Amino acid sequence: MSGMGLRSFVAAVVVSGFTAIVVAQATVAPPREETTAARFASGTWFDLTHPFDAATIYWPTEKGFQFEPGNNGPNPKGYYYAANRFATAEHGGTHLDAPRHFAEGRHTADQIELERLVGAAAVIDVREKCAANPVYEITADDFVAWEEAHGRQLVDVIVLLRTGWSERWGDRAAYLGTDVKGPEAVPLLRFPGLAPEGAKWLVEHRRVKAVGIDTASIDHGPSTLFGSHVVLCKADTPIFENLAGLGPLPEEGAFVVALPMKIAGGSGGPLRVLARLPDDE
Ligand SMILES: [Zn+2]
Repeated sequence: MSGMGLRSFVAAVVVSGFTAIVVAQATVAPPREETTAARFASGTWFDLTHPFDAATIYWPTEKGFQFEPGNNGPNPKGYYYAANRFATAEHGGTHLDAPRHFAEGRHTADQIELERLVGAAAVIDVREKCAANPVYEITADDFVAWEEAHGRQLVDVIVLLRTGWSERWGDRAAYLGTDVKGPEAVPLLRFPGLAPEGAKWLVEHRRVKAVGIDTASIDHGPSTLFGSHVVLCKADTPIFENLAGLGPLPEEGAFVVALPMKIAGGSGGPLRVLARLPDDE
C-alpha cells in the first residue's frame, strides 16, 4: 500500500471484486457505531410492557385509560386515515415513577438522566416467596443472595423485581387483591413489593440505575407510608411499575431500554420498556 492512502486503497479493491473487499474489511476495524448497531440488530427482544386499553389496571383511585377513536377509515381523497385521542393518569399500566413522585425537588420525567433508563438488568427472582406470601417484601438478603449467585455487586444495573404477579394481569382482584374501585379499595390492596429497608440498602450500599417491579407499586399492597418510594425517589432513582413479561429473562445477561413519555414537569408517565437477550454471549 506504499504511497496509497487507506481510503484510496479500499476504493481500488472495491472495483476489483468481492473477495478483495473482504480482505480490505479485515484490515480495517468497523467504526464504533457499526459494532453497536450490529449488537442491537442481533439477539431477541422482549416487550416488558402491558398494552394500554380499557382493561389496563390503574390505581383504584384513578380513572382507567381513556381512548377515544377518531373517524377512522378511507376518506374521499382515496387514502386511509386513522387518528385517535387518549387521556391517562401518569401512574397506571406499565409506567414510570419519576423521582419527583415522592421527593420534592428531585427529577421530573423529562429530567431523568438517559443513562438511568438503559442498562444491564439484574433480575431478582422472588416468585416462590411471593407465591407463599402475597404481601412479601423483598429485603437486602434477597439482593445479597443474587450477588453471591452471580459474583458481582448490584452496581450500574437496572434491578428488576420478579414476583410473578404479571401473570395475574387481566384479573384485577388477583393482581391488586381487590376489584373494588375508589379510596375504599386502598386498605384492601394485597401484592408483594420492596421493603423500605431493602430500598435503603440499595441506595446506601450500592448504586443502581433504576428499580422495576411487576406489581402495581414498588411498596407492597398494605403499605401506608410508601417508604420504598420515598427512599428511592429521594436518591433520584427512577421506578418502573406494572412491568410485564419478566418470566423468560435470565437473572443476569439481559439489556433493558425503558423509555417513558417525556412529560415536562411530570411525576411519571406511560413507559415502553424492552429487554434484549444476546443470542449467545
Ligand atoms: Zn407510579
